[in-house]
Amino acid sequence: MFESLSDKLSGIFDKLTRRGALSEADVNEALREIRRALLEADVALDVVRSFTDKVRDRAIGAGVIKSVTPGQMVVKIVNDVLIETLGQDAEPIDLVAAPPLAIMMVGLQGAGKTTTTAKIAKRLKERHGKRTLMASLDVKRPAAQEQLAVLGRQVEVDTLPIVPGQTPVQIAKRAMEAARLQGYDVVLLDTAGRTHIDEPLMAEMAEIKTFSKPHEILLVADALTGQDAVNLAQNFDERVGLTGIVLTRMDGDGRGGAALSMRYVTGKPIKLIGVGEKMDALDEFSPTRIANRILGMGDIVALVEKAAQAIDAEQARKAAERMAKGKFDLQDLCDQLAQVEKIGGLGGIMGLLPGVAKMKDQIAASGFDDKMVRRQRAIILSMTPKERRNPDLMKASRKKRIAAGSGVKVEEVNKLLKQHRQMADLMKSFGAGKRGGGMMGKAA
Ligand code: GDP
Repeated sequence: MFESLSDKLSGIFDKLTRRGALSEADVNEALREIRRALLEADVALDVVRSFTDKVRDRAIGAGVIKSVTPGQMVVKIVNDVLIETLGQDAEPIDLVAAPPLAIMMVGLQGAGKTTTTAKIAKRLKERHGKRTLMASLDVKRPAAQEQLAVLGRQVEVDTLPIVPGQTPVQIAKRAMEAARLQGYDVVLLDTAGRTHIDEPLMAEMAEIKTFSKPHEILLVADALTGQDAVNLAQNFDERVGLTGIVLTRMDGDGRGGAALSMRYVTGKPIKLIGVGEKMDALDEFSPTRIANRILGMGDIVALVEKAAQAIDAEQARKAAERMAKGKFDLQDLCDQLAQVEKIGGLGGIMGLLPGVAKMKDQIAASGFDDKMVRRQRAIILSMTPKERRNPDLMKASRKKRIAAGSGVKVEEVNKLLKQHRQMADLMKSFGAGKRGGGMMGKAA
């Protein structure tokens, strides 16, 4: 998976990182090549467009870091945008619910649904200490229930005893009841597949959902089917509602389009990936790890991160100086947000500034959390340096461009600007206070 894309990108980056300086034409040429490489990897057109736009905006807006070449900087930006496109953070299966917690597995025939069900059961037992009951609701394929029972014995996880002649809903009910009575933590419901989506299948899925009230509904999709997998996910999500996706055959030599487009197009996280036929060939989907695998530029990314850290101290000193003078523009806010992200929470940086502590509750009440910090940074990073220094420039068309660049609604850009204005006013009052203090000092 990703091999051809990875080869192409490394060719593009080799050229970029070998240069001392980069012109806008160089960046545009690289972006054209990245675009072509992504399209050839079967990445959805919308995703490609958003991807290259983001990289372009950030490359233009990026500050120069000492000891790093512009080419290396672009690699880091592509890496960051790639991670965002893949979903930013790993999203494991959510196990926080009252037992027995039902996980419904859906998907087409041959995607690897039954295999994945058993793999998940094994993982839940070994890594989370969960007692799991598996049940096959596939009454169409005669061997399906027996196939799950065989896998159950292999991974040493119980399967619901087979009662011939029951409907899928009856089996689901029996599974939930058995789990309640026998104290299972999790029930994995392996539903029937079809060769393609059809109405009776969707109706059956909806009915099973109604009766088993699953905490998770996971679509198992074959990564080798590329955009078809993404369309399938959209279809299933519209009809049944999905909480996540498992992409199988990530060990195959697919081009990677499904993995790269899935999150952006469907808005649903890829939670796990199947990487082989064996029962432990199931991995967490980690955007960072996948990005590293695609770019193969971990060294450069680490180098830029280290260089960025080194300038943090200098930046913090300069920021403190600016704030002491009552200056606080959007770039300052962006730097602060980056710091907040690094120290993993609001407490640190806000706590350091006297008087800002009182804004903390206010900010917390407005739903300011780590995800928001990340989004707000993305918004500011989509602005040009000029806009960051002069928030007054922000007119409707610019806001629209920025919102599109950072994948948020215009309202969110407005919210950020308002928040910045409040903070800037506060900083101004600091500056004024300081000067006032000085004068008083003189008078005394
Ligand atoms: P179902 O019809 O969706 O239940 O599919 P199965 O679970 O029966 O899987 C079909 C075939 O795909 C089996 O031979 C599995 O071993 C294989 N398979 C499932 N997941 C993976 C995977 O991640 N990688 C590879 N290489 N094969 C897989």
